[in-house]
Amino acid sequence: MRRSQNARTIWSFGFDGETESRIGKLLDNKFNMLVYPSGEVPGLPDFESQQPCLIMFTPEAHRAMKKVQRSKSKHLDYIPHAMVLDDNSSQEDMEYAIDSDSLAILRPGLSRSAFMKKINAALEIEAVQLDALRMTREIYLEREILDRKNEVLQFLVSFLTQTSVGLDPEAIIRTTFSCLRLLFPVRSIQAALWKPGVDNCDVELFITAQEGSQSFESWRNLMQEQISAALPGADYLLHLRPTDLPDQEEEWQGVAPVDGHVLILPISVSGQQIGIIFILTDMDRSLSRDQALALNSALHFLALTLNNAHNFQDVKQQADFDSLTGIYSRRHFEKRITEEVERANRMHHPLALIFCDIDHFKQINDSKGHQAGDDVLRGVAATIRDIIREQDYPARYGGEEFVILLPRTTPGRAVTLAERLRLAIGSACYDTIAGSVCLTISMGISGIMSGEEKTSRRLLQEADIALYRAKSDSRNCVREFSGLAGELATKPGSETRKPGAKTNATEEDELQGKRKVAI
Ligand code: GH3
Ligand code: MG
Ligand code: MG
Repeated sequence: MRRSQNARTIWSFGFDGETESRIGKLLDNKFNMLVYPSGEVPGLPDFESQQPCLIMFTPEAHRAMKKVQRSKSKHLDYIPHAMVLDDNSSQEDMEYAIDSDSLAILRPGLSRSAFMKKINAALEIEAVQLDALRMTREIYLEREILDRKNEVLQFLVSFLTQTSVGLDPEAIIRTTFSCLRLLFPVRSIQAALWKPGVDNCDVELFITAQEGSQSFESWRNLMQEQISAALPGADYLLHLRPTDLPDQEEEWQGVAPVDGHVLILPISVSGQQIGIIFILTDMDRSLSRDQALALNSALHFLALTLNNAHNFQDVKQQADFDSLTGIYSRRHFEKRITEEVERANRMHHPLALIFCDIDHFKQINDSKGHQAGDDVLRGVAATIRDIIREQDYPARYGGEEFVILLPRTTPGRAVTLAERLRLAIGSACYDTIAGSVCLTISMGISGIMSGEEKTSRRLLQEADIALYRAKSDSRNCVREFSGLAGELATKPGSETRKPGAKTNATEEDELQGKRKVAI
């Protein structure tokens, strides 16, 4: 064994005394050679302290090493091998050496320079292999980073394109859930949204858990806690908006805040908070920098989209509902009657329409004041809402006129409902700013029988004529159009009645002469 300071170590196995001495003489002083008997394996501590750069095996020692328990010799795989053949080596040994994974075949009979050339070439090959391995690892790592960046990019692109399409907050929250899952594992999402800068505000709670379930309650509690912290001192009203998540698996429906980590993310527009998003993730590590940046950008965009959706809902609400009575507006009614008439004609379902007009309403205004008149209108609308069925559709048509559309209802059944309504209104007496006001109402009914075809315009005209008849027949009564068809036929080419048009005719000739109805 030969040792010198700062020299690299070579381990050799299976050398007899002569081979050891001959090889020892061929090695220059940059190397120390440690010789081990065939089959003996230096342990891991030796490997770590000596850091051998090469192992030289005789074929016999190489064969013996293969028989050593794998767990004891694994560390030898990290060291390049060279095979040593002496003058007595057999043909078989030579073939064995060639087939082995050695980087060089060495012979004790080589000149010193040839021997060292082979050793150095073997070490260079090893160094190049290591470099290649390191580069492969780096390329692999960079690919992984690129893949991750690509994922983030994909998330942002799909988020920006998909969430900007609709104006329905619930659909936007659903889309956000699907997109976020491209970025990190998201199990569920909840949201609280409100209008900024209003003290008495309405807060909408979009909760994806099943209403009434334990997880629903725990989400609501957590959300309420966070809303109170975000809106200190505000007098807010909560509105539940049950929200379904796409492809929601059974087991997810019950997930509660305790089933993962909840990211509580405030969302703001122009510096004003408009809500909070609650994201439940089961990720066991924090988000990477790229993920966090992407999520942040997505939240900015989400805030703008939700704010837009909110504003749109407000405008739509204003246009669809009558601001005084809270029932549907005439604008919305006109859209709806067209749809319902088309459906009734297509499906051969019956459809009925009730046209209502408060009797002598002008007198109420005149005697009690306009504000009391408004109170009455609100009260009558509330009675209509209370009496009609879920599937019926009420709207304020004009001043003191209301319409009720009754899908899948024959005019005969509509008469029964109208009678109930007339009696309820006639016996109600409404509290107003100027005291209690009692009143009566007149109603006209038209309809489409199953199999019959009519336009919405005609349906309205017929109800209008029936109403006119109710007015002329002493008011406070219900009249059905069927049977009055002749009256319609006598007035071709005239115009549809405008809302608020005077209906207080009392004479039959007025019906025949002054009333303007067109088909
Ligand atoms: P008739 O029995 O023939 O229907 O008589 P009427 O007095 O009810 O009918 P008329 O059309 O002469 O009067 C309707 C009144 O309703 C006139 C109008 O000032 C009033 N009006 C219309 N819109 C409103 C409203 O929004 N609020 C109040 N308070 N009054 C309204
Ligand atoms: Mg009236
Ligand atoms: Mg009127």
